[in-house]
Amino acid sequence: MDLFEYQGKQYFARFGIPVSPGGVADTVDEAVEQAGRAGYPVVVKAQVQVGGRGKAGGVKLANDADEVRLHAGNILGLDIKGHVVKRLWVEHASDIAAEYYASFTLDRSAKLHLGLLSAEGGVEIEQVAATNPGAIARIHVNPLDGLTPERARAWVDSAGLDPKARDGAADILVKLYRCYVEGDADLVEINPLILTPEGRVHALDAKVTLDDNAAFRHPEWDEFRGFEELDPRDAMARARGLQYVGLDGTVGIIANGAGLAMSTVDVVSQVGGEPANFLDIGGGANADVMAAALEVINHDEKVRSILINIFGGITRGEEVANGIVQALGRVELESPIVIRLDGTNAEQGREILAPHLSDRLLTRPTMLDAARTAVELAGGN
Ligand code: GDP
Ligand code: MN
Repeated sequence: MDLFEYQGKQYFARFGIPVSPGGVADTVDEAVEQAGRAGYPVVVKAQVQVGGRGKAGGVKLANDADEVRLHAGNILGLDIKGHVVKRLWVEHASDIAAEYYASFTLDRSAKLHLGLLSAEGGVEIEQVAATNPGAIARIHVNPLDGLTPERARAWVDSAGLDPKARDGAADILVKLYRCYVEGDADLVEINPLILTPEGRVHALDAKVTLDDNAAFRHPEWDEFRGFEELDPRDAMARARGLQYVGLDGTVGIIANGAGLAMSTVDVVSQVGGEPANFLDIGGGANADVMAAALEVINHDEKVRSILINIFGGITRGEEVANGIVQALGRVELESPIVIRLDGTNAEQGREILAPHLSDRLLTRPTMLDAARTAVELAGGN
């Protein structure tokens, strides 16, 4: 789950990371009220889950209530890379002497946590990595060791931050690491982390991605969910308890097991098609699950064909086939379906499907054949 900046800052604050005082506003009047509380000058910031808000006109300084009205009015409703602004964060403005970058994420190939720190903050880190990779100081942290204050200070030195920022930055990095580990985040990023002319260091922006697999031990995360930005297809799938990832193509995909679903996405791409989604129905392929899966895919207007790829193990072929037949009675489908059914009781399953086959419901013997047919039906290749 991705947090909005204001939620990320609330999360940071729980771990003692300094952030500016401020509040959220959904209207111009509320923005003026929050500005009064935070104390002028303030920054009015669009709350959308996309980077580069500053460049898009979504971050503005305001010296008085009239300026807050002007900027809040302009930013609310603004479309930033396809995200329409519905909420603002208004905080006391900071004076900036230097802008830095700091983040933690998991380096899967190294099987260690990865910390990135750069004296070139305020711009996108991908850009720094492309033009000046030497400006990023990387450290790997073994979760068994954690990040010690000594190591954090050495890291700050190696990144070439202003010596005035040394203690403040090292302190924040240790806290940010705790926020990342104990807070069960997949990513924590501060860009910019600033040094003020008075020598204080604090977080001016916050990007936090929480690890959904840890949600069970964080009942307090519920408060973040109310205002989550979900793709409507994702929201629909989540409400039906399905593992779903929306993509941009035209071939809807249903498979049992995440591995098979991923392979199906790959094979569809390989034969020249574009997957519309990744959908793992897991072991339960009964009519309810199948109907729910078809409903979600059916809702996607880009979809031109649906590929159901089942390799039965615990999942049995006849159950899948019955599930599909019953689901077809419940969902009025916009697109033709191509089914590849293999594994446990596949023969029985195909017999159940046989009387229902048509040019809108086809079976194919292999995954590759099925993918080719689905891609043809989608109008690709
Ligand atoms: P992003 O563009 O979406 O990453 O939004 P940020 O929160 O990072 O803000 C973009 C830029 O606005 C920052 O890099 C700063 O240069 C500037 N900015 C944000 N807050 C303040 C502030 O309190 N004071 C000043 N002077 N500039 C700010
Ligand atoms: Mn930023």
